[in-house]
Amino acid sequence: MPILLCFTFRSLWLDNHTDNHEELNTMTDSPNNIRPGAIQPVINRNRCEGKGDCATVCPYDVFTIGTLPPEDRKGLNIIGKVKGFVHGWQQALVTNMDACHGCGLCVTQCPEDAITLTRIK
Ligand code: SF4
Repeated sequence: MPILLCFTFRSLWLDNHTDNHEELNTMTDSPNNIRPGAIQPVINRNRCEGKGDCATVCPYDVFTIGTLPPEDRKGLNIIGKVKGFVHGWQQALVTNMDACHGCGLCVTQCPEDAITLTRIK
């Protein structure tokens, strides 16, 4: 039984730490000369706790903290649902996506490691 629980939590952890986006390494792929909107932040909904560090640090007001819509809660894993409920479904929302300059500050500032950057154009 303990082995089954370990395997289950390992699977959930991997779900939280991987996604299908083309992630940028902000340390080596410095996007300083990338035009605004070519890169956007992607928030791992299973990890975000709405602490707001990203909204505070972003120089271009890309984020707001708000209530995660019910339709966006359906794909959460069990840990994400528990965290979302406990935090009143407050999460970072990307409300000004085209303003992103890809500086990476939000990625390094997020205490939950919930943000990655992806190239979209
Ligand atoms: S990468 Fe920079 S500009 Fe883009 S959302 Fe994060 S902090 Fe804002």
